[in-house]
Amino acid sequence: KMPPIASPARTQAIINRYHLKIKKSLGQNFLTDLTVLNKIVEAAGLSEKDDVIEVGPGIGSLTEFLAKNANKVLAFEIDENLIQVLEETLDPYKNVEIVYQDILEANLPEIVNSKFDMSRPLKLVANLPYYITTPILMGVLQGSVTFESITVMMQKEVAERLVAVPGTKAYGELSIAVQYRSQAKISFLVPRTAFIPQPNVDSAIVTLTKREPLAELPYDEKAFFRFVKGSFMHRRKSYWNNLQGMFGKQPEVRERIQRVLDDVKIDKGIRAETLPMSDFIMLTNAFHDAGL
Ligand code: SAM
Repeated sequence: KMPPIASPARTQAIINRYHLKIKKSLGQNFLTDLTVLNKIVEAAGLSEKDDVIEVGPGIGSLTEFLAKNANKVLAFEIDENLIQVLEETLDPYKNVEIVYQDILEANLPEIVNSKFDMSRPLKLVANLPYYITTPILMGVLQGSVTFESITVMMQKEVAERLVAVPGTKAYGELSIAVQYRSQAKISFLVPRTAFIPQPNVDSAIVTLTKREPLAELPYDEKAFFRFVKGSFMHRRKSYWNNLQGMFGKQPEVRERIQRVLDDVKIDKGIRAETLPMSDFIMLTNAFHDAGL
């Protein structure tokens, strides 16, 4: 019986046999720690009831664990040099299908519709290519496909930004964009030694699940995200400064900004990074109501 694809010896043997040129530019770091792989399956709460989408199967290290623990796995891989490898390594798993396509170009709703029967919980589980962690996550969170949960490996520093709370250095636009749409938590940390080749950063597994409904919604989501972006534009400057950057510096405009802040009882000396998401929503709506 074959050892797991992810076992260090087998991973190295696969790399050698196929003369695989590991592409740093595609974020190729293959997991070789079986304990970490088991913990990912556990963090995702996978069972035979679940269908799974994976991004970037690589040589199939995580895919094998997903196939063994879920109903069906659909994986997106951009690197066509891996076709032969994956055909061999995943041959025993008849519940796996690989789509050789850039995940950022894929029409996810259409593919999901054609490949899954939609009666099962759909989960996203992936060891993400780090150079596009944020676009992948934002695309998935803003897209129309509903995931029961998202369990993804990323650079530790990015994970810290996703889960950051107000008043911390990591808190900002990304924290709010993610926490607006999901409940984010770091499940566990993964040292760089868990991969071949080793990346030069440590990693974390983040789990995103459905968040509780917000008390107040922005009238206009686009306006809200524009407002959040503007609020964090110059982190060193005071919030008052950033607000003028967004709305204008004319005395008449400044007066109107001041009046809104007075109304909602926010001090103009405050710093954006101390405001919770609910305040950004409230402020977006208040500035809209004031015609700003
Ligand atoms: N899942 C494997 C593992 O855990 O060992 C490999 C993970 S590796 C960090 C990231 C994988 O994503 C690589 O196989 C890489 O080729 C693939 N990838 C990179 N950019 C991609 C993209 N835009 N769309 C789909 N896959 C991509």
